[in-house]
Amino acid sequence: MNSAPLIGVLAIQGAVREHIALLEAAGAKAMPIRHAADIPKVSGIVLPGGESTTISKLAVIDGLMEPLREAARSDVPMYGSCAGMILLADRILDGRPDQQTIGGIDMTVRRNAFGRQVDSFEGGIDLEGIPGGPYPGIFIRAPWVEEIGASIEVLGRVGSGAAEGRIVAVRDRNLMATSFHPELTGDTRVHQYFVEMVRQTA
Ligand code: GLN
Repeated sequence: MNSAPLIGVLAIQGAVREHIALLEAAGAKAMPIRHAADIPKVSGIVLPGGESTTISKLAVIDGLMEPLREAARSDVPMYGSCAGMILLADRILDGRPDQQTIGGIDMTVRRNAFGRQVDSFEGGIDLEGIPGGPYPGIFIRAPWVEEIGASIEVLGRVGSGAAEGRIVAVRDRNLMATSFHPELTGDTRVHQYFVEMVRQTA
């Protein structure tokens, strides 16, 4: 067991530096992933938010898409926030017709699901396996999980309001995803949870 595992953050778009800072605060070492050759160096991978259509297009162009799929299939722990959640979904609603995903989590995710009126909002989310009270969820044109396969563990749902009950955090074995952006909070608990997942796999 490695006490400070090296975790890579896909560095195509999004809050890469923020993810690296929180992974380090959570006890891991972290590096950006820019090339396929970076992937075998790390024992876990974070997929940041951003624009999933852009990220997936550039991941294909940069030759990262197939190696990322291979990593997800071969039990490398991966965590996707927001657009990263979309990238880990087997099925997307309201995506572009040609939008590719890494896939691996047996779920259907709806892009920009919360609608225009609630483009961005913050809300406390109770997360399964993450003690210490509700987690401050920051949602920015966020997806939600519309349907899940039998193997999926639901880690969190929206607690109140129009979207009450919607699934916004899931885990499937080595893969985990949240609709919200923990890297934009000072709260390290989600990153700690992921670092622990990586430790247990390493
Ligand atoms: N709406 C974006 C998408 O579809 C996700 C937004 C985000 O990552 N903040 O990719």
